Amino acid sequence: MTTIRSLTTRLQRVPLTRPWAADVASVGIVSTHVVRSDGAEGWGFSWSPQIGAPAVQALLAHDIGPACIGRSAAPGEAWQGLWEHLHEAGGGGITTIALAGLDLALWDAEARSAGVSVSQMVGRQRERVRAYGSGVNLHYPLDELLAQVQRWIDAGYDAVKIKVGKPDLAEDIDRVGAVRELLGPDRKLMIDANQRWDLDRATTSVDALSHHGLAWIEEPLRADDLLGHAELARRIDVPIALGENLHTVHRFADFLRAGAAHIVQPNIVRVGGITPFLRIAELAASHGAALHPHLLPELSGQLALALPDSAHEVLVEDVEDAGFGALGALADPSPVSIRDGSLTENDHLGLGLRFSPVLTGATARSRP
Ligand code: MG
Repeated sequence: MTTIRSLTTRLQRVPLTRPWAADVASVGIVSTHVVRSDGAEGWGFSWSPQIGAPAVQALLAHDIGPACIGRSAAPGEAWQGLWEHLHEAGGGGITTIALAGLDLALWDAEARSAGVSVSQMVGRQRERVRAYGSGVNLHYPLDELLAQVQRWIDAGYDAVKIKVGKPDLAEDIDRVGAVRELLGPDRKLMIDANQRWDLDRATTSVDALSHHGLAWIEEPLRADDLLGHAELARRIDVPIALGENLHTVHRFADFLRAGAAHIVQPNIVRVGGITPFLRIAELAASHGAALHPHLLPELSGQLALALPDSAHEVLVEDVEDAGFGALGALADPSPVSIRDGSLTENDHLGLGLRFSPVLTGATARSRP
């Protein structure tokens, strides 16, 4: 059996070209490197924009590293045991974000040693997937928001997502109306409240905005509020999308069974990597729910190419100027390209996501 010989990590902060808020000017990356008993190497990463990247690195160094050495290096085989090992620190969140760093590196190593990309190894189903333009733009004045939407139109996107949740609903009404007018009737428009509303405010807001033809309302309520989302789903006609703040296949199952989500949006890193992401995709398909992965287009785009056909097309989220390639964070050319609103894969081995050393960095090793 090929086993895990070593795991090393490096913490860095990657500056954002377009800050996501006054206090979010960079994102935290913990890049990971595994060496297997057969000498094969793999590179992965954990990602946490604002909170917890040092804690993620510490979990990898102190808890995942020592526990994974000697376990099977086959992608997915060690996952469940390590998740159970970490569980007293939480079934999801920091623990799954950290576990993703190892999981991605193991998938990368397996694909590299087979001489293929991860999407080829999983089983590539299609040559391209559609991407949608997305922006962290609640703080943009209306003219800047419209300029951003115009850039997406010019770049060929036929679906875009904007933030809502201004303190004054009238402002959301103005912004969504102006964006819909600019988009015209045929492009898709999605809105994302980032958990800013309570149940009544969400009901009122969606009622006031839904005539603009919304493909979905994303995270209307606190992400933990299962019963609230189920009740909201009964009250409104716009599909509810969520999942960027759910961390386990069990939690996704809870929301789908309760009728609290129509569209699921797992973040591949937050759920613990490719291994649980594939299980969540299976679960979504079995419920007839659409799946549109959260952020990380250079990673989620590769998996979107390999997901089995389902009733719903997978859309990849492309936040303006936030790709790792665009931010100059990658050591190699980007593994994917997005043109005319579609993502395709470039030739590469594994995930093709090795990070170049940027700025800061504590370094930790699971073993010397
Ligand atoms: Mg969102």
